Amino acid sequence: MHLTLLLHLTLNHHFTLLLHLTLDHHLTLLPHLTLDHHLTLLPHLTLLPHLTLDHHLTLDHHLTLLPHLTLHHHHHLTLLPHLTLHHHHHLTLLLHLTLHLPSIFLQAISTLNSSTSSIESDSGSSDHTTTNTNSVTDRISGTGLGFTYCGACRFLAKIVVGYFRLGAPSSLLVNLLVKICYAIAYQSLSVCRGIIYQDMESLIWIIQNSPTNGEEICALLLGDRGCGEFQRSPWKVPLPPRRHSAVPPPPPHPHLDVTPTTHYTSDAESYNSTPVGHLTGPPPGHPTGPPTGYVTFGSSSPPGHLIGPPPGVVSSGSGKKVLKMLHLTDPHYDPDYVVGSNALCDAPLCCTSDSGPPKEESARAGQWGDYRNCDSPKWLLHHMLNHIITNHPDIDYVVCTGDLVPHHIWRISREENVAIMKDMSELLQQFFPSTPIYGSIGNHESFPRDSFPPPEVSEVWSKFGLQWLYDAVSERWEVMMGRPVPPSARYGGFYSILARPGLRIISLNTNYCYRLNWWVLYKSVDPGLMLTWLVVELGKAEANGEVVHIIGHIPPFYVDCFAQWGHQFSRVLDRFSHVIRGQFYGHSHMDEFRIHYGPGPDGSGRKRPVGVQYITPNNGPYHNLNPSYRVYYIDGDHPHTTRDVIDYETWVMNLTHANQYNSPHWYHLYSARRDLHLPSLQPRHWHELVQRMSRDPALFQKYFRYQVQDSDPGLAKGCDGECRHKTLCSIVDGDRLTPSRCRRGPPPPGY
Ligand SMILES: [Zn+2]
Ligand SMILES: [Zn+2]
Repeated sequence: MHLTLLLHLTLNHHFTLLLHLTLDHHLTLLPHLTLDHHLTLLPHLTLLPHLTLDHHLTLDHHLTLLPHLTLHHHHHLTLLPHLTLHHHHHLTLLLHLTLHLPSIFLQAISTLNSSTSSIESDSGSSDHTTTNTNSVTDRISGTGLGFTYCGACRFLAKIVVGYFRLGAPSSLLVNLLVKICYAIAYQSLSVCRGIIYQDMESLIWIIQNSPTNGEEICALLLGDRGCGEFQRSPWKVPLPPRRHSAVPPPPPHPHLDVTPTTHYTSDAESYNSTPVGHLTGPPPGHPTGPPTGYVTFGSSSPPGHLIGPPPGVVSSGSGKKVLKMLHLTDPHYDPDYVVGSNALCDAPLCCTSDSGPPKEESARAGQWGDYRNCDSPKWLLHHMLNHIITNHPDIDYVVCTGDLVPHHIWRISREENVAIMKDMSELLQQFFPSTPIYGSIGNHESFPRDSFPPPEVSEVWSKFGLQWLYDAVSERWEVMMGRPVPPSARYGGFYSILARPGLRIISLNTNYCYRLNWWVLYKSVDPGLMLTWLVVELGKAEANGEVVHIIGHIPPFYVDCFAQWGHQFSRVLDRFSHVIRGQFYGHSHMDEFRIHYGPGPDGSGRKRPVGVQYITPNNGPYHNLNPSYRVYYIDGDHPHTTRDVIDYETWVMNLTHANQYNSPHWYHLYSARRDLHLPSLQPRHWHELVQRMSRDPALFQKYFRYQVQDSDPGLAKGCDGECRHKTLCSIVDGDRLTPSRCRRGPPPPGY
């Protein structure tokens, strides 16, 4: 097969291909190939008699092709019969170039080791969490050769962009990409075809209608793994000025029907608000107060945080001093799970009837799920929900932050996603028939997966829109919440709703910031206009004296959310940190948190911890994790409530035990305050915990055990000093466009 590529290939810096370069088809490059600096092709570039460059190759500096070709600065070279340099910078090479492009990547990837964490997020084009079938990015990152793979990524991305932008027939290059996928990611052509075919129409359209380039694509794909941050021109979400008042806050009002004044000076009050737990006492069954040896903070009334129903809203408060909020996330329900099927297949998802025969007995899928690339059988989720309602009969409301569908990303369809979401929501309702359930959308719910085009661009929406998805989820949410969803849900997959008197839940569709959402390349400025909408909603909440809990799938300070969006979100948090009393996300699949540092109350400009993003572990086992769920204790319905998070507890089920004895056993893994020795769950105490963990490896190991949900593979893998450093830095460096708060060695900087 002959492939013709017409493009300009410009390499501005060091470009290293640490690969075998061989192509089994004829590839003719008819461009200007400009190399501004070094080009190093290591170690084996086989030119043989088949290199054809019909135009000019310009070399400004060194071109090193090892072991066969070395071109020194400004020298004339003639390489055997095949390569002729006519003068300093211009070469005319009339040869045939036969390249086996997939082999470039195959050989590169073959050097990979398994140093990448086997317990990663569900990020990546396919929720890249596998070890035996690692994704491109995981494999790349696992090598510690980020630059090299960045170079390889850019090389390929330039070809893809140049090719598609010329409007050349797509099938040739698409098939080439399938081969590359096959070579480096999954040894299954059907998987690669499914994944790549899904994306092609939108990706080609985006390339042809946006200024994107290879550098951007690789920055987005590989993120902090050596390709730099994806950043286009700077943008800012508009923020209203802060509200100030010379009048000191009034004393707490005894009546719920008082409309609170809106005199907040933001961070100062938020930061200094009374640590919770002293107003309400510990949640039932919890130790009374902080552990011995820890400081108990003052218990004066919170200044100005009078929470009552806004005008016209009838209080429906339960009067409960402490509310229990169940957080479910990433159940990844797989209706095709088959016990005993192959759990070690070469696809993003195994344990189904099409996973091929197990090679050995140990490869068979377990009865209650499997640590390997497998999602949740229905009976696992059923068992979990049954356990929850038995052990927590007093759940006040449920939050479910998406990824309801399985990881079989290569063979999904709209219809199947909608059907599985419906099944899953009906299962939840079966267990919580009269308990409000507030949902948000996971990156897997879309089709193509991870694809969330901006609804505000009519040209895009008419061609690639997700109306089918937003209508479907809105319909489910209405049933689960027992009330209509606001129009924004059908518009963009996000909504704001008053859940309790004075407590607003804002559900974000954070997939708009997902680094594997190709539409970010088309429109990176406030995709979905969601941040603009969020600011308006927070402004209204502030004016009404409400406080807000934000829920969403991808945590804004997680590496999967592109940095510019995360930074703008951070600005919104700065402005409204006194209003936002809780943030709850999923997607990571691990038990984690991120700290938000905002301006402190002293006017010095020094940043202080003013918010926490809670990342709840996944309900399923994907990947190498124990199925988990979390219950949060929230300051309840009473006149002085802050709606702060008072505590939480994580429950897990050990999969090894469950499968070995066919007896699932859910157990309480830890409570945040008691087991992490937190005086309260105020942001400053989370910050102090990070400092303590940086000094105390034993404490960190305890946290790590919780982070991996006490899973056997997770504990076996462990977390060494480098891993600890990265883990702690990720907690404090969520806003990646601000100076790092992390330095080598303990402790992280204070505030
Ligand atoms: Zn997930
Ligand atoms: Zn996800």
